[in-house]
Amino acid sequence: MSLLVTRIGELVTNDPTHGGPLGIIPDAALVAEHGRVTWLGPATKAPAADRVVDAHGAAAIPGFVDSHAHLVFAGDRSAEFAARMSGQPYTGGGIRTTVAATRAASDDDLRATTRRLAAEAHRQGTTTVEIKSGYGLTVEDEARSLRVAAEFTKETTFLGAHVVPAEYDGRTDEYVELVRGAMLSAAAPYARWVDVFCERGAFDADQARTVLAAGMAAGLLPRVHANQLTAGPGVALAVELGAASADHCTHLSTKDVDALAGSATVATLLPGAEFSTRSPYPDARRLLDAGVRVALATDCNPGSSFTSSMPFCVALAVREMRMTPAEALWSATAGGAMALRRTDVGHLRVGARADLAILAAPTYLYLAYRPGVPLVRTVLLNGEPIT
Ligand SMILES: [Zn+2]
Repeated sequence: MSLLVTRIGELVTNDPTHGGPLGIIPDAALVAEHGRVTWLGPATKAPAADRVVDAHGAAAIPGFVDSHAHLVFAGDRSAEFAARMSGQPYTGGGIRTTVAATRAASDDDLRATTRRLAAEAHRQGTTTVEIKSGYGLTVEDEARSLRVAAEFTKETTFLGAHVVPAEYDGRTDEYVELVRGAMLSAAAPYARWVDVFCERGAFDADQARTVLAAGMAAGLLPRVHANQLTAGPGVALAVELGAASADHCTHLSTKDVDALAGSATVATLLPGAEFSTRSPYPDARRLLDAGVRVALATDCNPGSSFTSSMPFCVALAVREMRMTPAEALWSATAGGAMALRRTDVGHLRVGARADLAILAAPTYLYLAYRPGVPLVRTVLLNGEPIT
């Protein structure tokens, strides 16, 4: 069954052969078959198809690629959020609250939460989402978190080194041994990536390197939670190990920026976290002007960024981080795909996965121009309308 999407007022392809970084085709159409884009171009030249979706002149964009999300958890931290908004600082310590709730939850409860959040993301235009473990922190709870995550995405990340659980207080090195040993063995069958929260109060450079190296030896690909709270060693480690992405990048030295610019490591910015912890935003302009490839993602998690909305992150990036609307959309789509080393998503070309969002707007500019408004009208996932 082929599907024709026609009367697209503005089709963002991220294919520069159509002009500009976003490769926008005006008055466009697109054909999908077997989950792939098989044709795209001017609507007047579109071939016939079995089914037709009329965009009525609205803009269409590649589906968002949310390359950083923590969707497998239980519990609620709205009270902690309220306390923070009343003046308490964010330290990362609240993660343990979620760990306790997650360990106590049934598989079905974890699955239901993940399903609800993944569906919520899809409705807002996200067609690829990465999902991390990291709230189990025992061999069994990390493995089951990843088993649940793998039901919803291929982009699963083992984050046993998220925080040192309470029962290992003062024994971080022993916990690192567990993570790189039995926990990794149990998690690896369900994970594509390995990640570490490399930060003061969590894991230092040597501990993070130990976990990432063990993950790589087990066939996983590295990515790093880096430089969120301080200008620590995370970014340098990510570049050293050839990680696909260094995530957060809020506090960077000149050396960090230079290292990123000279590497294939993407800087993934997570402005929802700064918004929700009332912290200074990363300096996106400094990164972009240095030639660093930048991705945007939600960091959706119950503590420091409980949003699944990529349009919200685009609006924050434009308003708060001085990215242009075009840079922000590129980073939320093509940038996210690079951060996941994916070539089949994040753009619309013949052969790409037919993942796109049709907006209730004449241009993609509305994503930042009309913040907080539900602007995603129809989502095609693998060529099938899901909304
Ligand atoms: Zn995170």
